[in-house]
Amino acid sequence: MAEKNTINAHLLEIQRMSTEDGPGIRTTIFLKGCTLHCSWCHNPESISPKPQLQWLQTNCMGCQLCVAACPNNTLSYVDNQIIIDRDICEACGICVEECPTGALEIMGQAISVDEVVQEVLKDKAYFEKSNGGITVSGGEPTMQADFVAEFLKRMKENGIHTALDTCGMIPPFAYEKILPYTDLLLYDLKEIDSVKHRKFTGNPNEKIFNNLLTISEWMKIHGKPGELWIRTPIIPDATDTEENIAGIGKFIAENNLQPNRWELCAFNNLCNDKYLRLGTRWIFEKYDLLEEEKLNHLTEVAKKSCGINDKRVLWTGSAKTKETKISKRGNEPQPVNYCRITGLPEEE
Ligand code: SF4
Ligand code: SF4
Repeated sequence: MAEKNTINAHLLEIQRMSTEDGPGIRTTIFLKGCTLHCSWCHNPESISPKPQLQWLQTNCMGCQLCVAACPNNTLSYVDNQIIIDRDICEACGICVEECPTGALEIMGQAISVDEVVQEVLKDKAYFEKSNGGITVSGGEPTMQADFVAEFLKRMKENGIHTALDTCGMIPPFAYEKILPYTDLLLYDLKEIDSVKHRKFTGNPNEKIFNNLLTISEWMKIHGKPGELWIRTPIIPDATDTEENIAGIGKFIAENNLQPNRWELCAFNNLCNDKYLRLGTRWIFEKYDLLEEEKLNHLTEVAKKSCGINDKRVLWTGSAKTKETKISKRGNEPQPVNYCRITGLPEEE
């Protein structure tokens, strides 16, 4: 009988049919725990490595069975709201079992490599038809390097394209375990000014930028991963400045990094509810999508500064169009006030 693999991970979720984390249709494995704490984080439930209880107000009918069930007196019901004392909640899940409407949920679970492999292989036909594959994301997946290395190795044994999505704040030696089984590296460079970087993410940026130089040398020697995409989140009143984009572009040019793609990822405001479910507020809750014009302008700044083929530089995500309130998609005017650009850069 084959020996069962016992490496476990703290898994947040497995998301299917993703088109934003690499080429084709992908299944993205989100792990819990992050080395940064970005103020705009779109997956706040992934930051803590521990399981967390969340409450979905729209599902709650106020029966208070959960309050009575908790052995730690963690929950209270005030003004039609379930209040969770997160200092004492052990995420044991007893209240979740008791809730009749599914309004409580534990985010995060321990899962083995075997279990994730089994789950992901169900999607192999989609990968083959779309030239897609799997992406490991987070949180910061390299915090669980042994799990990620083993999982990616198993994916390669099954002929599946692999991508690693990292914030670059990587524990020492983690990349040497993981990169041999990685086809595509998605690497975030968020902010060129280290003081601002610390303000936005909780850490200065030197280690992240230096890690990319080390990895880039490693890639030249080992030929793996075959592709590098640099990604920069464009966040209003934070990273959305010409200075930042030109500065990152200069770093790319001066170090001759030659990524296959530099992607400016447009801010979106879809994660408000995730913060509310965790009992907190998102500081970007009042911000709207960025103007398409601004994203086009920053993309031009990026193209001029980075010394790589123009066709490899693009913005992705959603944006507001100006005045016309017409989507760029198709020839007919569309009744929406945003446009969406995703997908691969044009062929060179
Ligand atoms: S998860 Fe456990 S400790 Fe936390 S509120 Fe529910 S029953 Fe109480
Ligand atoms: S048991 Fe569920 S439905 Fe009832 S109060 Fe608690 S969260 Fe709401």
